[in-house]
Amino acid sequence: MSVVNILDLGHEPLEAFFKDLGEPAFRARQVFKWIHQQGVDDFSLMTNVSKALRQKLSDIAEIKAPEMVSEQPSADGVRKWLLKLSDQQCIETVFIPEGDRGTLCISSQVGCALDCTFCATARQGFNRNLSVAEIIGQVFVARRRLEQELASTRTKNGRIISNVVLMGMGEPLLNLDNVVAAMRIMLDDNGYGLSKRRVTLSTSGVVPALDRLGEMIDVSLAVSLHAPSNDLRNKLVPLNRKYPIEDLMAACMRFLARKAQRDRITFEYVMLEGVNDSSAHAHQLVKVLQGVPSKVNLIPFNAFAGTQYSRSSQRVIGSFRDILYAKGVNTITRKTRGDDIDAACGQLAGKVQDKSRRNQHFVRIEQGVL
Ligand code: SAH
Repeated sequence: MSVVNILDLGHEPLEAFFKDLGEPAFRARQVFKWIHQQGVDDFSLMTNVSKALRQKLSDIAEIKAPEMVSEQPSADGVRKWLLKLSDQQCIETVFIPEGDRGTLCISSQVGCALDCTFCATARQGFNRNLSVAEIIGQVFVARRRLEQELASTRTKNGRIISNVVLMGMGEPLLNLDNVVAAMRIMLDDNGYGLSKRRVTLSTSGVVPALDRLGEMIDVSLAVSLHAPSNDLRNKLVPLNRKYPIEDLMAACMRFLARKAQRDRITFEYVMLEGVNDSSAHAHQLVKVLQGVPSKVNLIPFNAFAGTQYSRSSQRVIGSFRDILYAKGVNTITRKTRGDDIDAACGQLAGKVQDKSRRNQHFVRIEQGVL
Protein backbone atom coordinates (compact mmCIF):
# COMPACT_ATOMS: atom_id res chain seq x y z
CA MET A 1 0.00 0.00 0.00
CA SER A 2 1.37 3.39 -0.92
CA VAL A 3 1.92 5.93 1.80
CA VAL A 4 -0.49 8.88 1.86
CA ASN A 5 1.01 12.33 2.31
CA ILE A 6 -1.38 13.96 4.76
CA LEU A 7 -0.21 17.41 3.63
CA ASP A 8 -1.98 16.71 0.35
CA LEU A 9 -5.31 16.51 2.16
CA GLY A 10 -7.56 19.41 3.01
CA HIS A 11 -9.91 19.18 5.98
CA GLU A 12 -12.70 17.32 4.18
CA PRO A 13 -10.46 14.80 2.39
CA LEU A 14 -8.78 14.18 5.74
CA GLU A 15 -12.17 13.42 7.29
CA ALA A 16 -12.80 10.92 4.48
CA PHE A 17 -9.37 9.39 5.13
CA PHE A 18 -10.17 8.86 8.81
CA LYS A 19 -13.65 7.59 8.00
CA ASP A 20 -12.06 4.87 5.87
CA LEU A 21 -10.00 3.92 8.90
CA GLY A 22 -13.18 3.68 10.98
CA GLU A 23 -12.28 6.80 12.94
CA PRO A 24 -14.62 9.68 13.82
CA ALA A 25 -14.49 13.03 12.00
CA PHE A 26 -12.95 14.83 14.97
CA ARG A 27 -9.71 12.88 14.46
CA ALA A 28 -9.28 14.77 11.24
CA ARG A 29 -9.64 18.04 13.09
CA GLN A 30 -7.11 16.99 15.72
CA VAL A 31 -4.51 15.89 13.19
CA PHE A 32 -5.18 18.90 10.95
CA LYS A 33 -4.56 21.22 13.91
CA TRP A 34 -1.35 19.44 14.88
CA ILE A 35 -0.01 19.89 11.40
CA HIS A 36 -1.23 23.33 10.40
CA GLN A 37 -1.48 25.08 13.76
CA GLN A 38 1.35 23.43 15.66
CA GLY A 39 3.67 22.72 12.73
CA VAL A 40 4.08 19.06 13.75
CA ASP A 41 5.13 16.55 11.10
CA ASP A 42 5.59 13.54 13.35
CA PHE A 43 2.57 11.44 14.30
CA SER A 44 4.22 10.27 17.50
CA LEU A 45 3.97 13.83 18.90
CA MET A 46 0.18 13.97 18.50
CA THR A 47 -0.56 13.25 22.12
CA ASN A 48 -4.34 13.50 21.99
CA VAL A 49 -4.45 10.63 19.50
CA SER A 50 -4.23 7.06 20.85
CA LYS A 51 -0.86 5.35 20.66
CA ALA A 52 -2.28 2.59 18.51
CA LEU A 53 -3.64 5.03 15.97
CA ARG A 54 -0.41 7.05 15.95
CA GLN A 55 1.46 3.84 15.18
CA LYS A 56 -0.98 2.96 12.43
CA LEU A 57 -0.67 6.42 10.92
CA SER A 58 3.11 6.16 10.86
CA ASP A 59 2.72 2.92 8.89
CA ILE A 60 0.30 4.13 6.26
CA ALA A 61 0.86 7.88 6.04
CA GLU A 62 3.46 10.62 6.16
CA ILE A 63 3.58 14.40 6.56
CA LYS A 64 6.04 15.45 3.94
CA ALA A 65 6.73 19.08 3.07
CA PRO A 66 9.32 20.38 0.60
CA GLU A 67 12.79 20.44 2.09
CA MET A 68 14.22 23.84 2.89
CA VAL A 69 17.74 23.52 1.55
CA SER A 70 19.00 27.06 1.79
CA GLU A 71 18.11 30.50 2.93
CA GLN A 72 19.11 33.89 1.64
CA PRO A 73 18.53 36.91 3.87
CA SER A 74 18.19 40.34 2.32
CA ALA A 75 19.47 43.55 3.88
CA ASP A 76 15.86 44.74 4.25
CA GLY A 77 14.63 41.72 6.22
CA VAL A 78 13.25 39.80 3.26
CA ARG A 79 14.26 36.16 3.09
CA LYS A 80 14.27 33.83 0.17
CA TRP A 81 14.27 30.09 0.59
CA LEU A 82 15.18 27.47 -1.92
CA LEU A 83 12.98 24.43 -1.41
CA LYS A 84 13.73 21.02 -2.84
CA LEU A 85 10.89 18.76 -3.94
CA SER A 86 10.95 14.97 -3.82
CA ASP A 87 11.94 14.76 -7.50
CA GLN A 88 14.93 17.07 -6.78
CA GLN A 89 13.39 20.05 -8.57
CA CYS A 90 13.51 23.35 -6.73
CA ILE A 91 11.16 26.23 -6.10
CA GLU A 92 11.54 29.54 -4.30
CA THR A 93 9.47 31.07 -1.52
CA VAL A 94 9.91 34.60 -0.19
CA PHE A 95 9.02 36.13 3.18
CA ILE A 96 8.47 39.90 3.30
CA PRO A 97 8.11 41.44 6.76
CA GLU A 98 6.70 44.95 6.97
CA GLY A 99 5.47 46.50 10.19
CA ASP A 100 2.64 44.38 11.51
CA ARG A 101 2.52 42.30 8.42
CA GLY A 102 4.42 39.25 7.37
CA THR A 103 3.71 38.33 3.77
CA LEU A 104 4.69 34.98 2.34
CA CYS A 105 5.02 34.86 -1.43
CA ILE A 106 4.61 31.29 -2.62
CA SER A 107 5.00 29.43 -5.90
CA SER A 108 2.32 27.37 -7.64
CA GLN A 109 4.35 25.66 -10.38
CA VAL A 110 7.93 24.67 -11.10
CA GLY A 111 8.75 27.23 -13.76
CA CYS A 112 5.99 28.85 -15.82
CA ALA A 113 4.47 28.29 -19.24
CA LEU A 114 3.31 31.82 -19.91
CA ASP A 115 6.46 33.44 -21.22
CA CYS A 116 5.85 37.02 -20.09
CA THR A 117 8.77 38.88 -21.61
CA PHE A 118 9.72 40.81 -18.45
CA CYS A 119 9.73 37.88 -16.00
CA ALA A 120 12.75 35.80 -14.97
CA THR A 121 10.69 32.71 -14.21
CA ALA A 122 9.65 32.54 -17.87
CA ARG A 123 13.28 31.92 -18.85
CA GLN A 124 13.14 28.63 -17.04
CA GLY A 125 10.20 27.28 -19.05
CA PHE A 126 7.53 25.09 -17.52
CA ASN A 127 8.37 21.92 -15.64
CA ARG A 128 5.31 20.84 -13.71
CA ASN A 129 2.46 21.75 -11.41
CA LEU A 130 3.00 21.68 -7.66
CA SER A 131 0.93 19.28 -5.56
CA VAL A 132 -1.26 20.50 -2.70
CA ALA A 133 1.43 19.32 -0.27
CA GLU A 134 4.06 21.32 -2.12
CA ILE A 135 1.93 24.48 -2.13
CA ILE A 136 0.69 24.41 1.48
CA GLY A 137 4.05 22.90 2.42
CA GLN A 138 5.69 26.24 1.63
CA VAL A 139 3.56 27.90 4.31
CA PHE A 140 4.24 24.98 6.67
CA VAL A 141 8.03 25.08 6.38
CA ALA A 142 8.28 28.87 6.28
CA ARG A 143 6.27 29.26 9.45
CA ARG A 144 8.30 26.59 11.23
CA ARG A 145 11.50 28.28 10.24
CA LEU A 146 10.29 31.74 11.28
CA GLU A 147 8.81 30.56 14.55
CA GLN A 148 12.14 29.10 15.54
CA GLU A 149 13.84 32.39 15.03
CA LEU A 150 11.45 35.27 15.16
CA ALA A 151 9.32 34.36 18.13
CA SER A 152 9.81 37.86 19.48
CA THR A 153 8.59 39.70 16.40
CA ARG A 154 5.11 38.23 16.06
CA THR A 155 2.54 40.40 14.39
CA LYS A 156 -0.19 41.94 16.49
CA ASN A 157 -2.59 39.09 15.99
CA GLY A 158 0.12 36.63 16.92
CA ARG A 159 0.85 35.49 13.40
CA ILE A 160 4.29 35.63 11.87
CA ILE A 161 2.77 34.96 8.48
CA SER A 162 -0.26 37.25 8.29
CA ASN A 163 -0.71 37.27 4.50
CA VAL A 164 -0.07 34.82 1.70
CA VAL A 165 0.27 35.89 -1.92
CA LEU A 166 0.42 33.48 -4.85
CA MET A 167 2.89 35.69 -6.68
CA GLY A 168 5.91 33.43 -6.78
CA MET A 169 6.81 31.13 -9.64
CA GLY A 170 4.07 29.89 -11.93
CA GLU A 171 0.55 30.75 -13.01
CA PRO A 172 -1.78 29.66 -10.19
CA LEU A 173 -4.86 29.46 -12.41
CA LEU A 174 -3.13 26.82 -14.54
CA ASN A 175 -2.91 24.65 -11.43
CA LEU A 176 -6.34 25.58 -10.16
CA ASP A 177 -7.50 22.50 -8.25
CA ASN A 178 -4.33 22.15 -6.19
CA VAL A 179 -4.08 25.88 -5.59
CA VAL A 180 -7.68 26.09 -4.37
CA ALA A 181 -7.25 23.06 -2.10
CA ALA A 182 -4.15 24.68 -0.57
CA MET A 183 -5.90 28.05 -0.15
CA ARG A 184 -8.78 26.31 1.64
CA ILE A 185 -6.26 25.07 4.22
CA MET A 186 -4.94 28.64 4.59
CA LEU A 187 -8.48 29.93 5.25
CA ASP A 188 -9.60 27.05 7.49
CA ASP A 189 -10.04 28.02 11.15
CA ASN A 190 -8.45 24.74 12.12
CA GLY A 191 -5.65 25.40 9.64
CA TYR A 192 -3.88 28.75 9.23
CA GLY A 193 -7.07 30.75 9.85
CA LEU A 194 -6.22 33.57 7.43
CA SER A 195 -9.03 35.84 6.27
CA LYS A 196 -9.95 35.91 2.60
CA ARG A 197 -8.57 39.43 2.39
CA ARG A 198 -5.15 38.16 3.37
CA VAL A 199 -4.87 35.42 0.78
CA THR A 200 -4.27 36.82 -2.70
CA LEU A 201 -4.05 34.95 -5.96
CA SER A 202 -2.24 36.77 -8.75
CA THR A 203 -2.96 35.81 -12.34
CA SER A 204 -2.01 36.81 -15.86
CA GLY A 205 -5.66 36.30 -16.75
CA VAL A 206 -6.66 32.76 -17.68
CA VAL A 207 -10.30 33.69 -18.23
CA PRO A 208 -12.13 30.33 -17.97
CA ALA A 209 -10.11 29.39 -14.88
CA LEU A 210 -10.87 32.78 -13.34
CA ASP A 211 -14.58 32.01 -13.63
CA ARG A 212 -14.03 28.62 -12.01
CA LEU A 213 -11.98 30.22 -9.23
CA GLY A 214 -14.90 32.53 -8.43
CA GLU A 215 -17.22 29.53 -8.22
CA MET A 216 -14.84 27.57 -5.99
CA ILE A 217 -13.53 29.98 -3.37
CA ASP A 218 -13.63 33.56 -2.13
CA VAL A 219 -10.13 35.07 -1.94
CA SER A 220 -8.54 38.34 -3.02
CA LEU A 221 -7.56 38.70 -6.64
CA ALA A 222 -4.68 40.49 -8.32
CA VAL A 223 -4.53 40.68 -12.10
CA SER A 224 -1.29 41.26 -13.95
CA LEU A 225 -2.42 43.81 -16.51
CA HIS A 226 0.81 45.64 -17.43
CA ALA A 227 -0.56 47.29 -20.56
CA PRO A 228 -3.70 49.26 -21.46
CA SER A 229 -4.02 48.07 -25.07
CA ASN A 230 -4.15 44.64 -26.66
CA ASP A 231 -1.31 45.46 -29.07
CA LEU A 232 1.10 46.15 -26.25
CA ARG A 233 -0.23 43.49 -23.87
CA ASN A 234 0.10 40.85 -26.62
CA LYS A 235 3.82 41.58 -26.58
CA LEU A 236 4.34 41.67 -22.81
CA VAL A 237 1.92 38.96 -21.73
CA PRO A 238 1.50 36.59 -24.69
CA LEU A 239 -1.54 34.97 -22.99
CA ASN A 240 -3.38 38.14 -24.00
CA ARG A 241 -3.63 36.81 -27.56
CA LYS A 242 -5.92 34.13 -26.21
CA TYR A 243 -7.77 36.22 -23.62
CA PRO A 244 -7.71 39.88 -24.66
CA ILE A 245 -8.23 42.78 -22.28
CA GLU A 246 -11.98 43.16 -22.90
CA ASP A 247 -12.59 39.45 -22.10
CA LEU A 248 -10.36 39.69 -19.05
CA MET A 249 -12.15 42.76 -17.70
CA ALA A 250 -15.53 41.10 -18.25
CA ALA A 251 -14.28 38.08 -16.27
CA CYS A 252 -13.10 40.43 -13.51
CA MET A 253 -16.59 41.91 -13.29
CA ARG A 254 -18.11 38.41 -13.08
CA PHE A 255 -15.62 37.58 -10.34
CA LEU A 256 -16.55 40.68 -8.37
CA ALA A 257 -20.27 40.13 -8.85
CA ARG A 258 -20.02 37.05 -6.62
CA LYS A 259 -18.29 38.95 -3.86
CA ALA A 260 -19.12 41.41 -1.12
CA GLN A 261 -19.95 44.97 -2.15
CA ARG A 262 -16.74 46.63 -1.13
CA ASP A 263 -14.35 44.20 -2.77
CA ARG A 264 -11.97 45.38 -5.43
CA ILE A 265 -9.46 43.81 -7.75
CA THR A 266 -5.82 44.81 -7.64
CA PHE A 267 -4.35 45.43 -11.07
CA GLU A 268 -0.59 44.98 -11.23
CA TYR A 269 1.32 47.11 -13.70
CA VAL A 270 5.06 46.67 -14.07
CA MET A 271 6.73 49.97 -15.00
CA LEU A 272 8.99 49.42 -18.01
CA GLU A 273 10.93 52.42 -19.20
CA GLY A 274 9.76 53.71 -22.58
CA VAL A 275 7.45 50.71 -23.07
CA ASN A 276 4.23 51.15 -21.09
CA ASP A 277 4.94 54.17 -18.88
CA SER A 278 3.87 57.28 -20.86
CA SER A 279 1.08 59.65 -19.88
CA ALA A 280 -0.89 58.37 -22.90
CA HIS A 281 -0.66 54.86 -21.43
CA ALA A 282 -1.88 56.17 -18.09
CA HIS A 283 -4.92 57.81 -19.69
CA GLN A 284 -5.65 54.63 -21.65
CA LEU A 285 -5.41 52.63 -18.43
CA VAL A 286 -7.97 54.88 -16.76
CA LYS A 287 -10.39 54.06 -19.60
CA VAL A 288 -9.75 50.31 -19.33
CA LEU A 289 -10.50 50.40 -15.61
CA GLN A 290 -13.60 52.55 -15.90
CA GLY A 291 -16.45 50.96 -13.99
CA VAL A 292 -14.29 48.22 -12.46
CA PRO A 293 -13.86 48.48 -8.69
CA SER A 294 -10.10 48.45 -8.66
CA LYS A 295 -6.83 49.57 -7.21
CA VAL A 296 -3.64 49.76 -9.18
CA ASN A 297 -0.31 48.53 -7.98
CA LEU A 298 2.55 50.04 -9.94
CA ILE A 299 5.56 47.73 -9.74
CA PRO A 300 8.96 49.21 -10.56
CA PHE A 301 10.51 46.66 -12.93
CA ASN A 302 13.07 44.38 -11.28
CA ALA A 303 15.92 43.56 -13.59
CA PHE A 304 17.55 40.15 -14.12
CA ALA A 305 20.44 38.94 -16.23
CA GLY A 306 19.79 39.21 -19.95
CA THR A 307 16.64 41.31 -19.79
CA GLN A 308 15.93 43.87 -22.51
CA TYR A 309 13.97 46.16 -20.16
CA SER A 310 14.86 48.90 -17.70
CA ARG A 311 12.92 50.31 -14.79
CA SER A 312 11.01 53.55 -15.31
CA SER A 313 12.46 56.44 -13.34
CA GLN A 314 10.84 57.50 -10.08
CA ARG A 315 9.74 60.71 -11.73
CA VAL A 316 7.96 58.87 -14.54
CA ILE A 317 6.33 56.45 -12.10
CA GLY A 318 5.22 59.46 -10.04
CA SER A 319 3.62 61.24 -13.03
CA PHE A 320 1.90 58.02 -14.11
CA ARG A 321 0.49 57.60 -10.63
CA ASP A 322 -0.66 61.24 -10.51
CA ILE A 323 -2.66 60.84 -13.72
CA LEU A 324 -4.44 57.76 -12.37
CA TYR A 325 -4.94 59.45 -9.05
CA ALA A 326 -6.43 62.58 -10.60
CA LYS A 327 -8.97 60.39 -12.38
CA GLY A 328 -9.98 58.77 -9.10
CA VAL A 329 -8.08 55.50 -9.54
CA ASN A 330 -6.68 54.29 -6.25
CA THR A 331 -3.00 53.72 -6.98
CA ILE A 332 0.04 52.70 -4.99
CA THR A 333 3.62 52.12 -6.02
CA ARG A 334 4.91 48.82 -4.73
CA LYS A 335 8.04 49.09 -2.68
CA THR A 336 10.84 47.03 -4.11
CA ARG A 337 11.94 44.54 -1.50
CA GLY A 338 14.63 41.88 -1.52
CA ASP A 339 16.10 42.84 -4.88
CA ASP A 340 19.64 42.48 -3.53
CA ILE A 341 19.03 38.73 -3.32
CA ASP A 342 16.92 38.42 -6.49
CA ALA A 343 13.82 37.89 -4.38
CA ALA A 344 11.75 40.75 -5.79
CA CYS A 345 8.72 40.35 -8.08
CA GLY A 346 9.62 38.54 -11.23
CA GLN A 347 13.12 37.61 -10.14
CA LEU A 348 12.41 34.08 -8.96
CA ALA A 349 14.27 31.75 -11.23
CA GLY A 350 14.47 28.53 -9.27
CA LYS A 351 17.15 26.23 -10.51
CA VAL A 352 19.05 28.31 -12.97
CA GLN A 353 22.14 27.58 -14.99
CA ASP A 354 24.56 29.46 -12.77
CA LYS A 355 23.27 27.74 -9.67
CA SER A 356 26.69 26.97 -8.25
CA ARG A 357 27.62 30.64 -8.25
CA ARG A 358 24.24 31.74 -6.93
CA ASN A 359 24.44 29.27 -4.10
CA GLN A 360 27.51 30.96 -2.73
CA HIS A 361 25.15 33.66 -1.56
CA PHE A 362 22.92 31.25 0.25
CA VAL A 363 23.43 30.35 3.86
CA ARG A 364 23.34 26.57 4.07
CA ILE A 365 20.80 25.44 6.57
CA GLU A 366 22.32 22.84 8.79
CA GLN A 367 20.66 19.48 8.56
CA GLY A 368 18.44 18.74 11.48
CA VAL A 369 17.86 22.36 12.40
CA LEU A 370 14.48 22.45 10.70
N1 SAH B 1 1.64 34.26 -12.99
C1 SAH B 1 1.08 35.11 -12.00
C2 SAH B 1 1.86 35.17 -10.70
C3 SAH B 1 3.35 35.31 -10.78
S1 SAH B 1 4.04 36.86 -11.18
C4 SAH B 1 0.89 36.51 -12.56
O1 SAH B 1 1.27 36.73 -13.69
O2 SAH B 1 0.29 37.34 -11.91
C5 SAH B 1 3.73 37.92 -9.81
C6 SAH B 1 3.78 39.40 -10.21
O3 SAH B 1 5.13 39.84 -10.47
C7 SAH B 1 3.01 39.66 -11.48
O4 SAH B 1 2.27 40.83 -11.40
C8 SAH B 1 4.13 39.79 -12.47
O5 SAH B 1 3.71 40.41 -13.63
C9 SAH B 1 5.15 40.55 -11.68
N2 SAH B 1 6.48 40.53 -12.31
C10 SAH B 1 6.99 39.58 -13.11
N3 SAH B 1 8.24 39.89 -13.50
C11 SAH B 1 8.53 41.09 -12.94
C12 SAH B 1 9.70 41.92 -12.95
N4 SAH B 1 10.80 41.56 -13.60
N5 SAH B 1 9.65 43.07 -12.25
C13 SAH B 1 8.54 43.42 -11.55
N6 SAH B 1 7.43 42.66 -11.49
C14 SAH B 1 7.42 41.50 -12.19
